[in-house]
Amino acid sequence: MAGYTPMMEQYLSVKATATDALLFFRLGDFYEMFFEDAITASRELEITLTGRGAGQEERIPMCGVPHHAAEGYIARLIDKGYKVAVCEQVEDPASAKGVVKREIVRIVTPGTVMDSKMLGDSSNNFIVGAASQDGRFGIAACDLTTGELYVTSFADSRETVKNMINVYRPSEAVGDEASIAAIHNDVNPIASKSMLTTVREETDFSKLSEQFPEESWNAHEPVRRMAVARLIAYLDETQKRSLVHLRSVKAYDSESYMSLDAFTRRNLELTETVRDRSRKGSLLSLLDRTRTAMGARLLKRWIDQPLLNREEAERRLDAVEALNRDLIKRKELRDELGEVYDLERLAGRIAYGTANARDLNALKNSLKRIPSIQRLCSTLEASPLRTLADGMDACEDIAEAIEQAVAEEPPVSLKDGGIIRPGYDAKLDELREASQNGKQWIAELERQEREATGIKSLKIGFNKVFGYYLEITRSNLINLPEGRYERKQTLANAERYVTPELKEKEALILEAEDRMFDLEYERFVALRDSIAAQMGRLQRLAESVAALDVLQSFAEASAERRYTRPSWTDGDGYDLTIEEGRHPVVESVNENGVFIANETSLTASEGSILLITGPNMAGKSTYMRQVAMICLMAQIGCFVPARKAVLPFVDRIFTRIGAADDLVGGQSTFMVEMKDIQVMTEQATSRSLIIIDELGRGTSTDEGMAIAQSVIEYVHNHIGCKALVSTHFHELAHLESSLEGLRNGCMAVKESAEGVTFLRKLVPGAADSSYGIYCAQLAGLPETIVSRAYTLLNENGSPLQAAAVSAHAAVKETAAAYASSTDVLEDKVPSVLRKGVEQLSMFAESAPTPKPTSKSTAN
Ligand code: ADP
Repeated sequence: MAGYTPMMEQYLSVKATATDALLFFRLGDFYEMFFEDAITASRELEITLTGRGAGQEERIPMCGVPHHAAEGYIARLIDKGYKVAVCEQVEDPASAKGVVKREIVRIVTPGTVMDSKMLGDSSNNFIVGAASQDGRFGIAACDLTTGELYVTSFADSRETVKNMINVYRPSEAVGDEASIAAIHNDVNPIASKSMLTTVREETDFSKLSEQFPEESWNAHEPVRRMAVARLIAYLDETQKRSLVHLRSVKAYDSESYMSLDAFTRRNLELTETVRDRSRKGSLLSLLDRTRTAMGARLLKRWIDQPLLNREEAERRLDAVEALNRDLIKRKELRDELGEVYDLERLAGRIAYGTANARDLNALKNSLKRIPSIQRLCSTLEASPLRTLADGMDACEDIAEAIEQAVAEEPPVSLKDGGIIRPGYDAKLDELREASQNGKQWIAELERQEREATGIKSLKIGFNKVFGYYLEITRSNLINLPEGRYERKQTLANAERYVTPELKEKEALILEAEDRMFDLEYERFVALRDSIAAQMGRLQRLAESVAALDVLQSFAEASAERRYTRPSWTDGDGYDLTIEEGRHPVVESVNENGVFIANETSLTASEGSILLITGPNMAGKSTYMRQVAMICLMAQIGCFVPARKAVLPFVDRIFTRIGAADDLVGGQSTFMVEMKDIQVMTEQATSRSLIIIDELGRGTSTDEGMAIAQSVIEYVHNHIGCKALVSTHFHELAHLESSLEGLRNGCMAVKESAEGVTFLRKLVPGAADSSYGIYCAQLAGLPETIVSRAYTLLNENGSPLQAAAVSAHAAVKETAAAYASSTDVLEDKVPSVLRKGVEQLSMFAESAPTPKPTSKSTAN
């Protein structure tokens, strides 16, 4: 450091303790950055890079931002993936000897941002601590803004780590090398976006018991303990303050929730769409009728973690049913909830010491709503709601304490007074009176002096530089007796004066005000700290309110969209039947407004595998997803889009739906499909639900078909779970005769001279033509291509055409048979599919035998 100025030496020694962060170094009213930091920051923030002498020959790079605007700049840097260390002056420059002492007061990282403007209200911002040891993996996930801390552990496998990380989507992760590598592993778009920090192998457990005095850590599995310890150590290091709002840990077994892999999450578009990753168009946005920010965040977690506990799901459904039925009380409840602020984040700010007087009033006003929310809940006919209401602690004492202390409409600032109510504190009242008396005295003086001098426009004013003064306009100066006041300041058209008594009073007033502001601040902080000590109660209340909000949101969405309560299949039968099921999202965005409901029956007697063939665009994948969505919605405790649904409690949903996402990792579609299927074969049980769309595409026809068949056989013979499989290999329809539990189904299509109409109706039997060319025509391909394709298809008695004709004839026959005798159909067709046939028979009458040429302009 030789040759640097003392200030620069100080900078360098501070910087040495924060090498991985950009250092915001406080100099007067600015935060300055130097050297590399300055170059990086000026580029990222688009601010001017300047230089500064630092005691050496060359000037060093420098840039800076005004301190009052720092938050915005910090937010931008965090958003771009940097850490920012904030270094403040920690002693009064006036009393400092030599260079003012400076210290890093906080390191802001993506996972520890406290500014809710930057984060958005409706999602959590998690930071994760991770640990792996002896084949087990532990994760501790914390949202510093709300004080939530979850911890869980599971058998260490790449898949599970990935699925678990996807639940929290942390913006930052801390762990030893191995666990960070596991998180980073694979094509995980979530992990690649978050900041990963590797820490030392050995864990410092000392902070654990300090942070959680009531937790008995020895009862926790070592990897859990390690994960939490690492997280806490990191938070301690970066936040440099006590984290009073992190007092309780919610430990849970990862087996209590359905594990959803990243593909299933994406394919079903649970929380964001595949196309543009937006929330709009996802199941989440469809079901989100929450009125509070905490409710919105909890809803997302419930969707991410479907239940595996039937009783818990039933409890949620009971509550939803009661709320769903009572429109009036639901509306009242929604109105009340609408007045409740984000208790979790308010609590977080109180604990962090960043809450101002307005925040406390927001807390008070929210707490005041709780009794009527409790009353509403307890009058509703549902015991879970009553339990929830009974368990709520309205924290009336806290509301009362705020009410007594904090002014009705306090300013934002905490340092300029006006935040504490009169009557709260005797000393404060005394000071306030002193200042008011002083001001009265001044008003009196003004009156007296006007009288004495006869100058009506004489007035007493105040400014920060000169304090109180008497002001007389230039034109009135002739009336002022010489030597009456001391001249203080000359303005263009007035003179300002003071008197010794005025100065004396001024000193009294200002002193009183100073002390008053200090005391107000002191009293406020004491109140805030006393509330912070009650953090646990506020957090528990916030949790109950959030749960209630999600339940009413389910009820509201269900009422709006005519969802019904699902029920569960009893015993081992494990049957799945859905009458008039709909796809919740497709239904809601359907342009023509008509969504065709479909039946589903996956039962022991009627087969638990449905093999769906049919043309593109017929509605196969919508149909399959709808079954998965209905199962999932039921297991988060929501009503479902169906006239009636009797469902098995599934342990896991696997989906393999071909989509563009395969390209992310640069792997071939086929390879990705096979990997998914591998995971599925390994993990699916007889109680799972499997959805595979377009099985076997992406490789040659023969191979694809062979693999498709063997996968289906494996699911049928070895897993024995419910499965919906679509394929464009119509030839696979023959499996129906060899696999007892498999049925063919297809999406009905109506043909006429004008073209093909998709009826979006699932009917039994295999499909005929795939209408791929027709799709091409719809898509607007040049006429020459379309007609050439039809010609090729029809050449040499194409096998496809032959299959099409015979299959269509079979469907027509079935439909006709149904029309003449229901008995014949009884044997051939699963009961719930009969309705589809019924509809089909109506169309069969009008539909001609398929002749692909009828759509063609060639031939
Ligand atoms: P496939 O998987 O057979 O190619 P999709 O399931 O993608 O077909 O459906 C194609 C389009 O048809 C969807 O985008 C949707 O808008 C519409 N659709 C699908 N099923 C229905 C239905 N039951 N009712 C109304 N429209 C539907």
